[in-house]
Amino acid sequence: MMDNFVFPGLTTRVVFGSGTLARAGEEVSRLGHEKALVLSTPHQKADAEKLADSLGGLAAGVFADATMHTPVEVTETAVEAFRVSGATAVVSLGGGSTTGLGKAIALRTGADQVVIPTTYAGSEMTDILGETANGEKTTRRSPVIRPETVIYDVDLTLSLPVGLTVTSAMNAIAHAMEAFYAPDRNPVILLMIKDAMSAFRDGIPRLIEDPHDRAARTKALYAAWCCSTALGYVQMALHHKLAHVFGGSFDRPHAETHAILLPYTAAFNEVAVPKLLAPIAEAFGGGSAGGALWDFANSVGSPLSLKAIGISEADLDRATAIAVKNAYANPRPIDPGSIRELLQAAWEGRRPGG
Ligand code: NAD
Repeated sequence: MMDNFVFPGLTTRVVFGSGTLARAGEEVSRLGHEKALVLSTPHQKADAEKLADSLGGLAAGVFADATMHTPVEVTETAVEAFRVSGATAVVSLGGGSTTGLGKAIALRTGADQVVIPTTYAGSEMTDILGETANGEKTTRRSPVIRPETVIYDVDLTLSLPVGLTVTSAMNAIAHAMEAFYAPDRNPVILLMIKDAMSAFRDGIPRLIEDPHDRAARTKALYAAWCCSTALGYVQMALHHKLAHVFGGSFDRPHAETHAILLPYTAAFNEVAVPKLLAPIAEAFGGGSAGGALWDFANSVGSPLSLKAIGISEADLDRATAIAVKNAYANPRPIDPGSIRELLQAAWEGRRPGG
């Protein structure tokens, strides 16, 4: 029970279900647009073209070069394509990389966004944009970045490979983990993320057995929506900072990086706020939140060490220096020594907590 809170009442229209992709055109028109540019990564280009075909006259074309960590040079090319196409909106079909490109276009042109997420990364419900330039990732928040409409279609997640299913879910759990102790958390977000923790705990092991289990996919996508909403409502802290350091400055894959760091950042902050992280510990098997998350990660085959994704031990000093360069809110005070220790444990993949 929280005695004091602010609930900002932010609005993004959400259409959730199976077969909802068919409603994309209706949602573009609902926002008052006559032309929308469809965005995707090269990997999902065929799906984007199929979607553009189904949009008929509403489609202004396809831009299929979305790239992880939103490099500004890709955005500049995309903005040019957007202007030439005559579109006034974007339809972003894909994971966080595609959503990021749509947001970057919206920031520069005022385009409305219809986002159709196909991973659990959770960018779609947020006003956050991380962009990479000159080897460093910077993040900003602005109301123009927040998508107008999100269409969740469970069917599109059936093709998500098991590895990405697991790490993307860990990425979503990381949003929830930091929302549990966010200074601006509120009761609605807490209800959503508690529900999301049990949905992921039950859904992910079932998806490893059968990636096409539609009921488990529905649970996982619902949980992803809850976690994305949390990310869009409240401040993030140390965990997201460290994930951005390895993503932006070391060009490591986003979901894996989040997945690896999560037990260690949970263990680090749990020292300061054990009660606030108790729902995580309870959801994933009891004991400490850090230990429970590590055990869950281990049981679902999630990568456990920074070493496993090509980070060298020598990189840890540079990562520490970047991570402590700017001050930001975190429940436990941050200093270079303790961050370096956290990263050492994460590099080795040692189980944290008791
Ligand atoms: P991604 O979007 O890069 O997707 C990874 C790969 O999987 C891509 O090749 C993609 O085409 C493919 N893919 C996606 N969905 C698929 C599906 N259903 N079936 C088969 N293949 C599929 O990865 P991601 O982890 O979703 O997103 C990472 C990016 O999102 C990072 O740049 C990160 O910074 C950003 N992000 C931003 C926020 C925010 O609020 N700003 C939140 C979360 C993530």
